[in-house]
Amino acid sequence: MTVLELSTVSKRYGQELAVDNISFQVEEGRIVSLLGPSGCGKTTTLRLVAGFEVPDGGDILIRGESVRRKRPYERNVGLVFQDYALFPHMSVEANIAFGLRERGVPPAEFLARIRSVLDLVKMPDYGKRSPHQLSGGQQQRVALARALVTQPSLLLLDEPLSNLDAKLRDALRVELRQILTSAGITTIIVTHDQSEAMSLADHIIVMNKGRIMQRGSAEEIYSAPASKFVADFIGQSNWFTGRLDGGRFVTEDGLSLVIAGKAPSGAVELGIRPERIAVRTKSATAAVGVNALEGVIEKTEYLGSTIHHWVRFANGRRIHAVVQNNGQCFARDGESVRVEIRPEDCLLLTPDEPDPSEPRDDRQSIYTDGLAEREQRKVS
Ligand code: ATP
Repeated sequence: MTVLELSTVSKRYGQELAVDNISFQVEEGRIVSLLGPSGCGKTTTLRLVAGFEVPDGGDILIRGESVRRKRPYERNVGLVFQDYALFPHMSVEANIAFGLRERGVPPAEFLARIRSVLDLVKMPDYGKRSPHQLSGGQQQRVALARALVTQPSLLLLDEPLSNLDAKLRDALRVELRQILTSAGITTIIVTHDQSEAMSLADHIIVMNKGRIMQRGSAEEIYSAPASKFVADFIGQSNWFTGRLDGGRFVTEDGLSLVIAGKAPSGAVELGIRPERIAVRTKSATAAVGVNALEGVIEKTEYLGSTIHHWVRFANGRRIHAVVQNNGQCFARDGESVRVEIRPEDCLLLTPDEPDPSEPRDDRQSIYTDGLAEREQRKVS
């Protein structure tokens, strides 16, 4: 069942189009992340769903029903903000009970429901404490419990882990996903942190400048980015500009690589993920592949589990490669090496346009009442 549907939704602040004609659906029990750089429209999208902002165009449906005319508290949506927004003068239990009282749940049910969510967030013994007696991670879990206790149709999390230090964030990420999946709650998480989106969400929607650039699983987006923007936002790449010549990608300064698969027509950019590049020393016995380039290690960074190399070719061009530290000896600065790239690891992409396969309703301009227009379209 579809819990949330956004249909050609737009939001403008003055001259600025914060959300530009976006459409997506979220199915029951799914965890979806809105991922993108600062200012791309993630929070505005979340606020539109929550009812804190009104769209200029399009419609938002929760469980098949338009919520355009519903106030935030009528939408059955739970919210967790990055600053948790717990009431400092209330105990954990009272904080959690607040939402129940607001929604008219009979007080006789309070205790059982509070216990159940405190168990869910693994804090059964913390009900009597004040927020200031909790760590950042525990406060975050109480905020989550407070949102979950009302059994919302949809949970909205805005950068839920950004106030925590890096180590705690990594640990809580795993725990948060486990809590959300065991509660079976349909969730939207807003984040600008790609690893957070990749580890927490089943489905990622990458946004830029108010538009959806691509959507898919973490693996789909990483291994088959639809544009240079997505490839750069999710992970790193070495970029080359050139043209296609038969089954090869050729640059003006003489780089020529065999490529695999279908490529977009016209001038293209070629991206190569650093970890997909093999760096072989002269003594390596492995057979030479189709894309083998001679170079010299210009710089090396030893980062423990990985080793980063910057290799310079004879034409002066540099490439960044990341190799796993498997305990065997690795190439050193100044050493001559052979760099190898498999044709299937050459990502041929157009510049920063949204994915052309993204559904868009180009008939629609910004209008003041999307609902009226939607109804009109249904009739015509
Ligand atoms: P961040 O990660 O920095 O929170 P974001 O992707 O969530 O960014 P939004 O907060 O949705 O981005 O903002 C999208 C654009 O709309 C930005 O350019 C922002 O300046 C603008 N904007 C957001 N809220 C308002 C507002 N209340 N008034 C005017 N402009 C706004």
